[in-house]
Amino acid sequence: MVSKTKATLDRLVIILGDQLDPGHPLVAALNPARDAVFMAEVREEATHVWSHRARIVLFLSAMRHFRGDLEERGIKVRYFALDRHSHASLSAALAAELKGHRPQRVAMLQAGDTRVQVAIEATVRRARLPLQVVADPHFLVEPKTFQAWLGQRKQPRLEHFYRAMRKQTGILMQDSEPLGGQWNFDAANRASFGRQGPAQLPPPPAFSADKVTREVIRLVNREFPEHPGALDTFDWPVTPADAQIAVRDFVDHRLASFGTYQDAMWTGEPFLYHSLLSPSLNLKLLNPRDVLDAAEISLQDNVAPLACVEGFVRQILGWREYARGIYQARMPEYAELNALDAEQDLPAFFWTADTDMVCLREVLAQTLRYGYAHHIQRLMITGLFCLLLGVRPQRVHAWYLAAYVDAVEWAELPNTLGMSQYADGGYLASKPYVASGKYINRMSNYCKGCRYNPAHASGDDACPYTTLYWDFLVRHRERFAHHPRTALQWRNLERLDAKTVAGIRQQADDFRNSL
Ligand code: FAD
Ligand code: SF4
Repeated sequence: MVSKTKATLDRLVIILGDQLDPGHPLVAALNPARDAVFMAEVREEATHVWSHRARIVLFLSAMRHFRGDLEERGIKVRYFALDRHSHASLSAALAAELKGHRPQRVAMLQAGDTRVQVAIEATVRRARLPLQVVADPHFLVEPKTFQAWLGQRKQPRLEHFYRAMRKQTGILMQDSEPLGGQWNFDAANRASFGRQGPAQLPPPPAFSADKVTREVIRLVNREFPEHPGALDTFDWPVTPADAQIAVRDFVDHRLASFGTYQDAMWTGEPFLYHSLLSPSLNLKLLNPRDVLDAAEISLQDNVAPLACVEGFVRQILGWREYARGIYQARMPEYAELNALDAEQDLPAFFWTADTDMVCLREVLAQTLRYGYAHHIQRLMITGLFCLLLGVRPQRVHAWYLAAYVDAVEWAELPNTLGMSQYADGGYLASKPYVASGKYINRMSNYCKGCRYNPAHASGDDACPYTTLYWDFLVRHRERFAHHPRTALQWRNLERLDAKTVAGIRQQADDFRNSL
């Protein structure tokens, strides 16, 4: 806890755990003689969803390193460290600080999470102090610019937004045309590894825990012993310098194969050619512009081909900014959407990985071990299972927000509710991402070691994905059978006779009841 001595402060700058930007504009404008920074580690941020322990360690360790850097620069930091007696919530810690030190004014970057922004605004208002909220320059598009782009569009589309961003930034552009004559190399980004599996994979760099991180690990083990997730594998970057090393390593060793195998999965290989940069980006240890520059340079230097670089750029310049724009524009009502009226509970094995479905066991086990799964694992293994089963989207959201080290609500919620669960009725993504076990079989080797058969929808060895897939098609026939983007997929139902359909539906019900 901080001491209670009174001091006269001009400006108090609030810095949140996901605003650890080394170029933070309000820090750059600080007057060290009269201003101070406020940072707080609070239990609420680790418990409002049942956070993975590695996620808690990542945030707290990165915050403590950031505090150290500020103090080295002679900046006063009013830092509330987490212990048994610390404030339960950010609002409580901030209220105590405002009461104790009575700054003239308070300033902050716009919080990523609307819940946090609302709580801070209310606390500062109660203290009768002025609050300056500055747009977060980390992002390439400001909320009001996104809102203008969104305009009256009934159905925004990533592809349109992405092209506008390419034109706006000039990234992968030649004059006003896309480099290589194509906006999108998506079709070249869907290879699987075939029977032989991936070649020798370059291991991602490991950042071993320093004294600060070791102390935080002890704290988290002590304070959150019942929380899910392992800590013995914790090796995420917690400083901007380490995050830069991670970018260099990705660009030099994995980017050249990233695009090609973006959607592929393989048993025992959680990372493949992915960048693992989302935690550093989301905590703002990394600036997306630097990451995009590094990718473009690797193309110019012939280190990585255009299709791979474009595939990567699309994720950061496209999806990441798009998700955040939709979140800012549609919250808070977005969080409550449930277009498919899904009401099932989340299966308990999501917290233990104790299931005989090999694909789910693999992805859940690596999630609990590392706090990481790559995009297709999140979308087409865990997400797909919840969508087909009919789990209430808000329960799925709470799990994703808890389970991954990179989880921040502005990125997680649109991906979960919009892209993965179709809870927004097709606003973010035009069609539901539904597939049977055959898709998983094509993109991975998971089915090889599984007791189920991905080709079977009924019978003892029927793959639950395949059963639930056909069941989903039947349950939502009315909504999708005449939709231009989904009609083709639903037409397959016409091949099944009534008896087969009844059998599949019974098997799906039995499966649901067995969970
Ligand atoms: P790479 O595959 O190497 O991709 C490069 C970068 O692109 C990522 O680091 C990330 O910053 C960005 N990116 C890629 N896809 C997306 C996307 N769909 N939305 C936003 N950014 C993207 N991402 C998060 O950052 N936080 C989350 O909480 C989160 N929750 C998700 C939940 C679900 C259900 C799904 C389907 C996706 C979620 N994603 C989330 C998006 C994506 O899965 C992760 O960004 C990615 O897996 C992170 O691993 P990586 O850094 O190795 O990414
Ligand atoms: Fe998963 Fe079905 Fe394949 Fe088993 S058979 S690994 S449950 S997709």
